[in-house]
Amino acid sequence: MAHEETAKSSVGAKLVIRNIGTLLSGDLQQPVLDADTVVAKDGRISAIGREKELDTAGATCVIDANSTTLLPGLIDSHVHPVAGDWTPRQNQLGWIDSCLHGGVTTMISAGEVHTPGRPKDVLGLKAMAITAQRAFAALRPSGVKVLAGAPVIEHGMVEEDFRLLAEAGVRLLGEVGLGSVKDGPTARQMVAWARKHGMQSTIHTGGPSIPGSSLIDKDVVMAADADVIGHINGGHTALPDAQIRALCEESSRALEIVHNGNERAALFTLRTAWELKQLRRVILGTDSPAGSGVQPLGILRVIAALSSVGEVPAEIAFCFATGNTARMRNLDCGLIEVGRAADFVLMDAPEHSAGRVVLESVRLGDLPGIGMVIIDGEVRSERSRNTPPATRLPKITK
Ligand SMILES: [Zn+2]
Repeated sequence: MAHEETAKSSVGAKLVIRNIGTLLSGDLQQPVLDADTVVAKDGRISAIGREKELDTAGATCVIDANSTTLLPGLIDSHVHPVAGDWTPRQNQLGWIDSCLHGGVTTMISAGEVHTPGRPKDVLGLKAMAITAQRAFAALRPSGVKVLAGAPVIEHGMVEEDFRLLAEAGVRLLGEVGLGSVKDGPTARQMVAWARKHGMQSTIHTGGPSIPGSSLIDKDVVMAADADVIGHINGGHTALPDAQIRALCEESSRALEIVHNGNERAALFTLRTAWELKQLRRVILGTDSPAGSGVQPLGILRVIAALSSVGEVPAEIAFCFATGNTARMRNLDCGLIEVGRAADFVLMDAPEHSAGRVVLESVRLGDLPGIGMVIIDGEVRSERSRNTPPATRLPKITK
C-alpha cells in the first residue's frame, strides 16, 4: 500500500504519450478526438494532436501507447473514505489502491460516515470535516485524489457554521438526509447556505442505507434542491420509476447513478435522461465502501452495463464518469483539453473479447483491460491487477 505526500513537485517534467490508437475526450459533444499524441508539462496537458505536428523534444518521460485507447482518469462521484487507505466498513486496507487499478484517479466523498464514533454535535462534525479535508489533501493513497471533508448536516447548524467550514477549505456536504435533518425545507436552507459559501451538496436518494435513517423520496429531494441527486438508482433501495422520472423532468440537478444500487433503476434513469436530452447530467459513482463491499471495478462495471444493456455508445458512457462529473463538480481534470490535469487511463480490449476493439468490447458488456494509469503526468500503475488482461500494453520507452 503506497501512501504518499501530495504536492510533489512536477516542475520541469514533460510527458509525451505517442502512438495512441483511439483518444477519448470525456466530452459528450465530441467524445472521440482525431489525434495520436498527448503532451503534458508540469502535470498538465499542454498539447494534443498528431505526433509530427507537436513539439515532443526534451521529454522527461515518453510512453508508447502501442495503439491502445487513452481517456481521462475516471472520477468516482460517490465514495465514503475514512482515513488513508483504510475503511472499517468491510475491514479493508488498500481499497483506494484497488480502485486505482480500476482506472479511478479522483474520488469525491459523500461523507466520512463510516468513521468509528463519528461526532454528531455541530462542533464535532465541523472538526471532523476539516480534519478529513486536510488529511486527504496532505496524503493521497497511491496518488489518487480524494476530495474529502464532507460533513453530514445535523439540526442546529446555522449559516455561520457553513461560512466557517468553507473558510477552512471544506467544499462538500455529505449526503443530506443521513443526519438528523430530514425535512426538505430545513435541508433546503442548509443546502442554500452551503452553496452561498461555495460548497457543493449531494442528497441521499431512496430507501435507507442503514437502520434508523429514513426514506428520501422525490418530494424531499426536490425540496432540498441539493446539487447532486445522489444515487438516484437507490443505495440500495430505489424510488418508484414515476418518482425517478419526475426528478429527471422537474429538477436540473446532477443524476448520479451508482454501482451499489438498483441496476434496473439505473437503466430507467439512463433511458429517461436520454429521452429528455439530459445525458450531460448523468454522473457515476460506486458508493463504496458499502454493504455490498468495495468495488475496484465499479465505475467500469457501470459504464459497461449502461453501454451494453442501456445501448449507449461506449465513448458516450465513458463521458459520464469523466467530463460530465468534472463539469458538474468544477474539477480541473476529466477532459482531454489543454490546461487540464494530466490524469489518464490507457486501456485496450481484454484478451479474447468478442469485441475487436475496446469500445466494441464495452458495448458487448466486457470490461476493458487497463494497461496504465497516470495522475498529474506521473505513471501510478501499469498493467492492472484487477481488470482482465489487456490485449496490448503501453510501454514506457524513456
Ligand atoms: Zn453513500
